Amino acid sequence: MSECLPYTIGKQSIAFFSMEIGLDGGIPTYSGGLGILAGDTVRSSADLKLPLVAVTLVSRKGYFRQELTSDGWQIEYPDEWDPAKFMTLLPAEVRVQIQRRDVKVKAWLYEVKSLVGGNIPVLFLDTDVEGNTPEDRAITNYLYGDDGIYRLKQEVVLGVGGVRILDALGFQIRRYHMNEGHSSLLALELLRKFGMDMEKVRNLCIFTTHTPVDAAHDKFSYDLVREVLDDFVPLDTLRKLGGENVLNMTRLALNLSEYINGVSKKYQLTSSRLFPGYQINAITNGVHSYTWTSEPFKKLFDKYIPGWANEPELLVRVDTIPNEEVWEAHQDAKKTLIDFVNETTKVGMDYNTLTIGFARRATGYKRATLIFSDLDKLRKINRKGRIQLIFAGKAHPRDESGKKIIKEIFGYIETLKDKIKIAYLPNYNMSTAFKLIPGSDVWLNTPLPPLEASGTSGMKAAHNGVLNFSVLDGWWIEGWIEGVTGWAIGPLPEEEVSEPERRAREIEDLYNKLEYVIVPTYYQRRDEWIEMMKSSIGKIAYYFNSHRMMRRYITEAYF
Ligand SMILES: *Cc1c(COP(=O)(O)O)cnc(C)c1O
Repeated sequence: MSECLPYTIGKQSIAFFSMEIGLDGGIPTYSGGLGILAGDTVRSSADLKLPLVAVTLVSRKGYFRQELTSDGWQIEYPDEWDPAKFMTLLPAEVRVQIQRRDVKVKAWLYEVKSLVGGNIPVLFLDTDVEGNTPEDRAITNYLYGDDGIYRLKQEVVLGVGGVRILDALGFQIRRYHMNEGHSSLLALELLRKFGMDMEKVRNLCIFTTHTPVDAAHDKFSYDLVREVLDDFVPLDTLRKLGGENVLNMTRLALNLSEYINGVSKKYQLTSSRLFPGYQINAITNGVHSYTWTSEPFKKLFDKYIPGWANEPELLVRVDTIPNEEVWEAHQDAKKTLIDFVNETTKVGMDYNTLTIGFARRATGYKRATLIFSDLDKLRKINRKGRIQLIFAGKAHPRDESGKKIIKEIFGYIETLKDKIKIAYLPNYNMSTAFKLIPGSDVWLNTPLPPLEASGTSGMKAAHNGVLNFSVLDGWWIEGWIEGVTGWAIGPLPEEEVSEPERRAREIEDLYNKLEYVIVPTYYQRRDEWIEMMKSSIGKIAYYFNSHRMMRRYITEAYF
């Protein structure tokens, strides 16, 4: 069956595969940075009118909706949504073999339309199709629902089903871009399609690696692989490509991709050490400028830097904006946040207190509680100039230690409640991020190096003149100029330090810079603060955007 869509006629497309994608607050098929980045990739591709088609899973029950009990225990609910409200079901249908059954796969078409006329098709694969067994109909229900058999079945649908549906729809694909290893089964399907010609497949495939955290790299036992995939490709070939003892999806992608990249310069080095023998390039992440700039700053940029949205390099001209107007725009964004916090949590925050934001997945290496290492120091800083803190973030349902981090923060909220106002916003997602990031004064980031491959929320902060205060890891190493674009926490990336020494120096910087630099600048040298806000926009946002990122993918990977 071949049904051509308007996009496919006479054009060769880039196929961008991602297990998760963050397109819209109402489509909860993302868990964090990886998915939002995939969304920004598509949004910039639409603005740049690239011939790109994205493929993902429909995840009808989303990742999950987070509620928090009064003492900070996370409760998870399905985040059900209705694809029919946002997209159209295409008539094409393909089959994949799972446990020797034919499973039917269909696709929903969502179109990402750019304000300047581009239009990118996103295919949401769905197995909830009549004729499939109830169990198979549930394969595309939960994003990251399980890391065993359920996950492997999902990856068959994404990788194998994805390639087949693109063929059925008449797409001609120039390159297949795997956003993380979840989609690497697509390379196996291509091997089969092209008579096991590895060179041919390698020439077609691009792989982007996003994390050095080992648990995030999918691995499946060959027993499981045989149960689910049967003899899809001969086992000895698979062992050569994906690892001797387990099928490692990252390894599979590395071995079948001509172009491989990490998402920052630092992570290029880290991943080259993790995966010796592969040439790994660096394309540092970016965010979609128009999406992540708050309304007040959009208005301001429109007034002084017309054309900035589709040419974010123009933000280098931020110095043409008067300081008072930058401050007013920020106070507007901050009011939206503080009102939202006060409605949601009854903490009673105010508009003029130095507000520090921290929102990320609640997981060990992000170290959300580092700022609570010495409560007396924190109280002392707060006596010199008041501070208030806002947190948000979900823990993966099976990450017990991540859930404990949230609970611990609730403990600190209680301990400090008479002195420092602290809030934890539930259910961190795109909609809360739109308020939380631009409304903070300082954006705090304390990951354990080298585990933050890039990080992107700090780039969103910079687009809104929010100052980064961050450990030197991932993108921040490239964006940081001390006292100009923000402040560093802890040792330089090239310093060799023991873990205890690292921690001691991080804590020292965290408290000393807050007490002697950040608080006094905010309260006593407002002009200097606003100059730094402008430097953030002019020296960070102008570069760390997904338009620049996509232009690099085009010139270095796609063509
Ligand atoms: C940007 C974003 C992230 C990723 O932030 P990091 O700094 O990379 O951890 C996660 N979740 C949401 C909702 C975001 O908007």
